[in-house]
Amino acid sequence: MTVTTSPGLAWAPLAEVDPELWRAIEGERDRQTWKLELIASENYVFRAVMEAQGTWLTNKYAEGLPGKRYYGGCEFVDVAERLAQERALALFPGAEHVNVQPHSGAQANMAAYLSVLDRGDRIMGLSLAHGGHLTHGSPVNFSGKWFEVHSYGVEPETEVLDYDAVERMAREVRPRMLVAGASAYPRTLDFERLASIAHGVGAILFVDMAHIAGLIAAGLHPSPFPHADIVTTTTHKTLRGPRGGLVFCRADLPPDLKANYPVLEKTTLAAAIDKSVFPGVQGGPLMHVIAAKAVALLLAGMPEYREDQHRTIDNAQVLAGALRDRGARLVSGGTDTHLMLVDVTPLGVTGREAEALLDAVGITVNKNAIPFDRNKPNIASGIRVGTPAVTTRGMGETEMRQIGGMIVDAIEGRDDAAVGERVAADVHEICARFPVPGLPPA
Ligand SMILES: *Cc1c(COP(=O)(O)O)cnc(C)c1O
Repeated sequence: MTVTTSPGLAWAPLAEVDPELWRAIEGERDRQTWKLELIASENYVFRAVMEAQGTWLTNKYAEGLPGKRYYGGCEFVDVAERLAQERALALFPGAEHVNVQPHSGAQANMAAYLSVLDRGDRIMGLSLAHGGHLTHGSPVNFSGKWFEVHSYGVEPETEVLDYDAVERMAREVRPRMLVAGASAYPRTLDFERLASIAHGVGAILFVDMAHIAGLIAAGLHPSPFPHADIVTTTTHKTLRGPRGGLVFCRADLPPDLKANYPVLEKTTLAAAIDKSVFPGVQGGPLMHVIAAKAVALLLAGMPEYREDQHRTIDNAQVLAGALRDRGARLVSGGTDTHLMLVDVTPLGVTGREAEALLDAVGITVNKNAIPFDRNKPNIASGIRVGTPAVTTRGMGETEMRQIGGMIVDAIEGRDDAAVGERVAADVHEICARFPVPGLPPA
């Protein structure tokens, strides 16, 4: 037998092959272990999810769908993809069709748009400045470049959506698609109402549930199913899976709505969605990631997951209360979800300053514009704070009260080195008590 690849190199562990990279990965593991992760879009996956992702499936090309591939040798990856599909549909009752191949949330959204819209079509989405996502029509994103975007926003007094105002705007604009969903909106979204607004003007309702998919799976936020025509999500936020996307849709649009979309004349919505994922915007699917999605979707169906989502919301309530009690202002007055938007102006700093001060003591958040922000987006007046990752670590209400106090201490004590040192020590102490799941202790 001729060995053409050095067996030494083929089998050597990463730490030996690439020590420079290995040190960066170890550094990231330590960072995730010893800092308080409050970025609302992040989470810690369980070991089984990470294991599925680091497998031989990474070697496989599988363009097409299970049973209908453009490559041979797909019998095992077909099993993985079918499991992901079945579990995704089981987790969200009322969903009729799913494509589990999108590499990310942004690509799931691109597939959603391309399946039914033409360039230049009118869409309505929540403004980025009021909590929407870049892919909902921002001018720097393809969605803003390709479509005629009319952004809706929250009301100045309440900082929440006024559905009557959205409806008035829809009647005026007559969009081809109403986009709902958000990255920094702390309140419940009324998908039933949004569907009646969209369908009332003959438009498709597209719900992007990226942030709240886990809460919906656990029955803790109203579901977009069966109201929305197309639903996308990421799999790595509250869902606690690998980085990736999913796109769900109705098997087909009802005939009166369908008549408004000539691109669907000879096809179903489900087939159009599948085609717009591949070959529309992607090539070969990431089968190792799809396998990890299947594991995450299995875990998300378990009672323990539902309890964790419940605790995520309870923790957000307590953290929000603690921040409010110490003088921070919560946009919209509070939260119904896993995240809150905190106006740090009353604490005498900008969002950018707060992010840096917290980073220095081991608390990770992101600066975030608040509605009607007077600061530029790269400075911002707020920070976005979320509880999924710390809840996954097992932290509870006692820790949330403590962390709320530590956040305000670190900001208010910014000129006193002793305060910073004390908060940093508290961060270390909490992290030591709540190990990161899925990683061996450091
Ligand atoms: C995170 C997010 C996305 C994008 O997901 P990526 O995987 O980062 O591309 C899309 N929409 C919403 C509402 C999000 O919060």
